Parts: sequence; C-alpha cells; structure tokens
Amino acid sequence: MPVDPINHENVIAALSDLADPETGRSVVPMEQVHVVEIDGTRVDVSLGLTTWASPLWEDIREEAERLLRSKLPDAAEVSVRIVEHDRPPEKIGQIGLAAKSVIAVASGKGGVGKSTIAACLAYGLRSAGAKVGLMDADVYGPSIPHLLGVNERPQLFNNRLQPIKKDGLRVMSMGFLVPAGEAIVWRGPMLHGAITQFLRDTEWGDLDYLVIDMPPGTGDIALTLSQLLPLTGAVVVCTPQDVALLDAVKAIAMFRQVHIPLLGMVENMSYFVCPDCGRRYDIFGSGGARRRAAELDVPFLGEVPINIDLRKRGDAGDTAGNFEDAATAPFLREICSLLVRGLCTSHAAEPPLPSLSVL
Ligand code: ADP
Repeated sequence: MPVDPINHENVIAALSDLADPETGRSVVPMEQVHVVEIDGTRVDVSLGLTTWASPLWEDIREEAERLLRSKLPDAAEVSVRIVEHDRPPEKIGQIGLAAKSVIAVASGKGGVGKSTIAACLAYGLRSAGAKVGLMDADVYGPSIPHLLGVNERPQLFNNRLQPIKKDGLRVMSMGFLVPAGEAIVWRGPMLHGAITQFLRDTEWGDLDYLVIDMPPGTGDIALTLSQLLPLTGAVVVCTPQDVALLDAVKAIAMFRQVHIPLLGMVENMSYFVCPDCGRRYDIFGSGGARRRAAELDVPFLGEVPINIDLRKRGDAGDTAGNFEDAATAPFLREICSLLVRGLCTSHAAEPPLPSLSVL
C-alpha cells in the first residue's frame, strides 16, 4: 500500500486528531501547529500549548510524535518542540477573576494534610510552568504562610491587595493579616466578607489556576465561593482511616449538594516505609480512599505516604523541597498530572464556551 508522502499537508493531517488539552479541540484550527522544517525524511514541528497545560507538555509532545510517525512511516526522524501559546484567561464570576481553573482543596476534618496537599498542588502546577495563585481560605487555621515560609504583610497598591510572591506563586492568606497566635472569631457575614474581599480586592493577575485551601468540614465557605465565581471543582483530601473517610464522604456529599464538581480524592498519610528496614506499615489502614472514591464515582488522584521529611519541610516552610526529593516528588507530581488530565477529559467532553465578563 502506498504511504503518505512527507509534506506539510500530511504533517497537519497527522496532528488534526491531537486535542489541545485546554480547549478539548483540535490543535490544527487554532493554529497551534507550526511546521518548522521538512528536510528529506526529517520532520521538525513546533507545537504551541498554553501554560495551563504545562504539566502535560511532555506527554503531549510524545503523543504528537507518535501521531506523526504513524501517519508518516517514511519519516526517519520526527521531532516536536513545545512552545508557549498565549491565550489569556477570560474574566469569571461576579468578581471578574482572570483564572482558567479554580480548584478548592477540602477535607472532612482537620489534620489530614489538606493544606500540605493544597500547597503541593500549587507548587507542582507552578513548577511545571503554570501561572498559579494560592488562596488560603482556611481562616480558622491559616497554615499556608507557615508551609511556605512567608510572613510578610501584603501591600495595598491602588486599593488592591498585592499577593505575596513566593517561588513564582501568588499567595494570599488571612495569616498575613492577623498576628501569629491570635485567633479571630468569625461570624457568618464577616467570613463571607473576608473571602469576598480576598478574591475581589487582590491583584491576582492572569492565572491558569487558583488553588483554594478550604477550611475543613463545613460548607459555608464553599457556598460563598460558588456564589462569587464558578469553581472548577473540589479535591478532597483524606487519610485511609475509617473516621477520616466518613468525614470525607460527608464533604463529598456537601459539594454535590451545592453542585460543585468533584475533581478527585487524594489519600494522604497512606502508609509509612521505615527508613531503617524498608518495611511498609499501613498505620491508618490501606487503600480505603481508593475504594471509597470508586464507590462514590470520584476520580482517585493518588496517595502520599507518611514522610518525616515532608513534615519537617512543612514546619520549616520549605514546601518547594518536596519536589526535589525522590521520596515525595513522584507522588505529588502524579497527583498534579492526574488532576490536569481529569480537567482535560472534561474539557474534551464539553469544550468551554467563551463566557461574557460580568464586570
Ligand atoms: P490540615 O490542613 O488537614 O489540617 P496540614 O496540611 O496542616 O493538615 O498537616 C498537618 C500536619 O501533618 C503538618 O504538620 C504536616 O506537615 C503533616 N503532614 C501532612 N502530610 C504528611 C505526610 N504525608 N507525611 C508526614 N507528615 C504530613
């Protein structure tokens, strides 16, 4: 059977089935494919992808090369290079936040590592190349400043709060505004006002992701948030222990009640591998969250073992260090990549339509 000749047209045809992860639509009509060179049997393509999709750039590059090789078997060398494709976010919600995805990280109860996972998600997305904001909405116990090792006070500029910048992340927390160790008694309207102000009056800039560390349990803040802006969805963190799982199930039910999509469950403190003998201990039981996620039809994003260095880095404000440690980084990166993959799948199922700004 004759094979397709190596030419510009066939390169484009080969990539027409490649979906842009952000829009779920083919990269071809959006002019994201630039054929750089065809030299005999060598094909060089540069493919434009947005920073939103940066956690998947390498996977998509490989997929593009695979498509090219299968369509053009005569090509001896195929090389795809990813370049940044600029597509600014639309303004969303009544507050006009310029973010592509807003992800609430929640848990049924405190102490399961929700803030740690929220900070790691934000770092993981950022370190891949995405523009990320991290908002600490856990007003009862704001621990993001501690986990990131920042305690500056945000400055006001043109009446807008400037988020604190840490390792390229834009961070806002009540912890920056309240002296450490001081407690605030929150009444409903105050809480609503504070969260609204944090979102509306902060100069977030253009974001690919806004990660929100939610307070554990109650649904008030989820409701406030969902009135202010469309949440892309929630990630629920739990431990494999039965009591934690029961609370996580309640949190999931609460999100379903207020129509916030469930993006996935993360099982934290899944097991402990003894650094001395290498033996694994299932301290809180094993596999509970994965099973419960399947029963509840919620994607399972992965597990994070109990790790002493992860705890130490949390205390030392060195969340970034978790991405340089082979004992923690692969777990955290996997969670980030499965999360973004899940978002891509839903974009492919219903590509987002351009929305009108309310402001
Ligand atoms: P939450 O936000 O659910 O209250 P935190 O993220 O503040 O929980 O975590 C509680 C404590 O547990 C912190 O000291 C944190 O460093 C520690 N921690 C979280 N996850 C792990 C883990 N996988 N291994 C070891 N310590 C962890």
